[in-house]
Amino acid sequence: MGMDGKKLEYKGEDALRELEELTIKAKEVQDSILKEIITRNGASEYLNKYMQGSIDLLTFKTRVPVITYEEIQPYIQRIVNGEDSSIISGHQITEMLMSSGTSCGEPKLMPSIAEDLDRRTYLYNLIMPIMNKHIPDLDKGKAMYLLFIKAEKQTPSGLPARPVLTSYYKSPHFQTRTHDPFNDYTSPNEAILCPDRDQSMYCQLLAGLIHRQCVLRLGAVFASALLRSISFLEKNWIDLCRDIRIGHLNKSITDPNLRAAMSKIITSQDPQLADELEAICSLRTWKGIICKLWPRVKYIEAVLTGSMAQYIPALEFYSEGKIPLVCTMYASSECYFGVNLNPLSYPTEVSYTLLPNMAYFEFIPLENGLQPNNEEKIEQDKLVALVDVKLWCYYELVVTTFAGLCRHRVGDILLVTGFYNSVPQFKFICRRNILLSIDTDKTNEEELHKSVTASKKLLEAYDQLLTEYTSHADTSTTPGHYVLFWEITNTSTELSLATPLNAELLQNCCQVLEDSLGYVYRCCRSHDKSIGPLEIRVVEEGTFEALMDLIISQGGSINQYKTPRYIEQGQALELLNSRVKDRFFSSRDPVWSL
Ligand code: AMP
Repeated sequence: MGMDGKKLEYKGEDALRELEELTIKAKEVQDSILKEIITRNGASEYLNKYMQGSIDLLTFKTRVPVITYEEIQPYIQRIVNGEDSSIISGHQITEMLMSSGTSCGEPKLMPSIAEDLDRRTYLYNLIMPIMNKHIPDLDKGKAMYLLFIKAEKQTPSGLPARPVLTSYYKSPHFQTRTHDPFNDYTSPNEAILCPDRDQSMYCQLLAGLIHRQCVLRLGAVFASALLRSISFLEKNWIDLCRDIRIGHLNKSITDPNLRAAMSKIITSQDPQLADELEAICSLRTWKGIICKLWPRVKYIEAVLTGSMAQYIPALEFYSEGKIPLVCTMYASSECYFGVNLNPLSYPTEVSYTLLPNMAYFEFIPLENGLQPNNEEKIEQDKLVALVDVKLWCYYELVVTTFAGLCRHRVGDILLVTGFYNSVPQFKFICRRNILLSIDTDKTNEEELHKSVTASKKLLEAYDQLLTEYTSHADTSTTPGHYVLFWEITNTSTELSLATPLNAELLQNCCQVLEDSLGYVYRCCRSHDKSIGPLEIRVVEEGTFEALMDLIISQGGSINQYKTPRYIEQGQALELLNSRVKDRFFSSRDPVWSL
């Protein structure tokens, strides 16, 4: 089944009927998707190198290699520099989507073609028909979604380079959507599109508070953004209530489009609403604040799977565990993958059903859940087709997209938990190699190691040696921040000459660490402010030996012991924290430019 424009416009019942058909005929749909991709892109420099004019599916499966981003990057770079899209795609590449993954510290750029927006819209249009089957009457009120755009730039060839959601919110598909009572947002487009994060957040919260009695659901794309908005509300509710009381928008909102849009929402003085809100916001605890401020909310929506699972407890605190937390979809810059057909399942139990008309999907089987590393070459014949994956087996996802990515390893590890008709349902397990993530940043072991290596050099001039390190994503603060546990030994032979650790030195170490981390981390820190200053916790000597003892006592093998470079909640973290001698924070934003 092709992705012709007409089918993409189906909504409601029609959308579900089509989903039924797609999932029954998944094999045929996948084969025809691959055929279409080969037909369109077969003449491209990249694909033609392997296909040499053939449009045969078997030729594709035996000849086209399984690759990581690094292998297609030179082609993408050529397009970025102005060469024709036809080196990878039969269609014009209209933009480069900046992924949160990084390659050599730079954001990965995923090619995108105009009709990809139709495919994304198609997936979004499935969400409400699915939700409506589980929670009725969602068309009787509003949705308070806190949506934000990010900074974008242009490639030397003039293509926009921006994150996929920024591209979507700026597209006519989003901005000129027809009125739909199931998708009646409290946030005006102008607030979502305002490039100033604080002004955007302020106005979206203000609109949500004004409409508090008709908000039926609320959320953000990622749980981290929703929690930041709650924290922003904690800091700004006095101003927000004042605006509502006097019927005037705060002067700090300077964006003229935003002021014009908000003037239609904040139309008169409302001292009664201001009193109600002030009474709630000044309560001693903010436990359950979401239920109190938005009493009709039936569910909270945000991605809470994968690395976002760390935010489940915080959201349960603010909703007192009374409101279902719903994860609706699984997507990436290269392709939107699938939807959650059981939206009321608890976040840790969520599985996503891949939509067979989004792209051509294949899977690298992972024995015993073992992760192949980036360097390992994957033989073409190892790959398994979408309908052939086995229940309770682990796989790494590989996609072939219309825009020209061929057998591209997405880097996500998935577990098959069931089938919907003939389509597998997957639990998101983790992203290959990723250690640390607070917001949309993803830092892997090599990136962390590289920045630690750069930073520890500063110690050496002071006769100090970094002997061991590990890391932790601390989300007990909002925004969360990276923590590095460092064990430092004094190497001076003459005790009397040993320089004590000085705060300035360790602060500099924090800064060098941050400056050496990837683009997305530095952007979140400096531009979005969605990550707090990095912290080094210096631990007593012998701490890492104690950590090893602990891990071995829990069943780890002594022969194969390697210091874990990431520590989650639990006994190991408690042990490290109990031996902290001193803490240091980065005192400035890391270097970042568009
Ligand atoms: P990006 O390329 O920056 O758009 O990031 C896409 C990646 O985010 C995916 O490959 C996943 O690793 C992660 N991701 C997206 N949606 C989900 C989800 N629902 N649950 C867990 N991880 C997700």
